[in-house]
Amino acid sequence: MGLIDPLGFIDTDEQWSAHNYHPLPVVISSAEGAWLTDASGRRYLDFLAGYSALNFGHRHPALVAAAMEQLNRVTLTSRAFHHTLLGLFCRELAELTGTEMVLPMNTGAEAVESAIKVARLWAYRVKGVPDGTAEIVVASGNFHGRTTTIVSFSTDETARAGFGPFTPGFVIVPYGDLDALRDAMAPRTAAVLVEPIQGEAGVLVPPPGYLAGTRAACDAAGALLIADEIQSGLARTGELLALDHEGVRADLYVLGKALGGGILPVSAVVGKRSVLGVLRPGEHGSTFGGNPLACAVGRAVIALLASGEFQSRSHELGAHLHQRLHTLAKHGVAQITGRGLWAGVHIAPGGPTGRQAAEALMGRGVLCKEAHHMTLRISPPLVITHSDLDDGLNAIIDVLTH
Ligand SMILES: *Cc1c(COP(=O)(O)O)cnc(C)c1O
Repeated sequence: MGLIDPLGFIDTDEQWSAHNYHPLPVVISSAEGAWLTDASGRRYLDFLAGYSALNFGHRHPALVAAAMEQLNRVTLTSRAFHHTLLGLFCRELAELTGTEMVLPMNTGAEAVESAIKVARLWAYRVKGVPDGTAEIVVASGNFHGRTTTIVSFSTDETARAGFGPFTPGFVIVPYGDLDALRDAMAPRTAAVLVEPIQGEAGVLVPPPGYLAGTRAACDAAGALLIADEIQSGLARTGELLALDHEGVRADLYVLGKALGGGILPVSAVVGKRSVLGVLRPGEHGSTFGGNPLACAVGRAVIALLASGEFQSRSHELGAHLHQRLHTLAKHGVAQITGRGLWAGVHIAPGGPTGRQAAEALMGRGVLCKEAHHMTLRISPPLVITHSDLDDGLNAIIDVLTH
């Protein structure tokens, strides 16, 4: 590590932080827009964007200004008292997403947990499912977070093994298989929980008609459709929500990552009043959820999204990204999946692993991360310039073809 890490930051990390990650051997000390700078002053293009938490790039001036201003007013009240920004944040987020009510949380996993709790409560209080028997249908290959309940229905053994006993009440069906989904629906089904595009699984887009068919299956069974748009939402795919590409509406959307502008964790469940309205005081909560600082940054994020600029950038830069990556597919080097400024590069057998490709790209000044063994995940900040995007793509194409 001597050359890469002369000051020993990596050694300190490895000695003192739990080993639940395997980071690339690079130590970031500052960042702006689509660029990262390491402790020795070397610059890198960010082709990961914090797994889409940094859709607006590092330290977007409007987001930093909103945070700074709020730091000088009030940052935390808890929900024991009202504050001036919660109602405005919730109204603006509901208006942006075309929904009716907002349940603010902090992390993505917490918002998914909240959606699960709300769906169960709705099943018992509204649908009339006998208490304690509600089921939620989920897809294989899913990633919804790391809590004990959420890993209970993961199909990734690394994420799940050793963490039992598991929470019951989930039915897993193959992602993209509409017949299997229809067969899994029952009178006790509270909801289907699905990623419109599976991020961690390798940026996998389901077959055409799958999401509309899932909506129809939910309607037929009187169940809720919950879309986990934590990674796919908020302009990443070229639309506000990935479901918008299909003209499909969910009953609940789970948002996170970019909602906090890369500054702090902000998540939310947004959706129908007839569903979120089942919660009564004391039944659910969070000390930090909906805090004034989160609302100030969240409102600035909503204002950026309301302009439509980032959706257009993702759409246009994404078309270019997919067109250029397609040359890899044409030469049999890799299969490309994804939508907008978001791609999975599935490297053909015999090529480098995702990890090896990411390490080679690090040497070329481009930082990204593998998804699965042979998959590279590409998700630059939506503020990236056309020429920076091309520079990064040149490096990727070069590393995979030489
Ligand atoms: C990242 C992610 C989560 C979990 O979010 P955290 O903030 O890490 O808890 C849940 N669902 C999806 C689709 C994600 O990409």
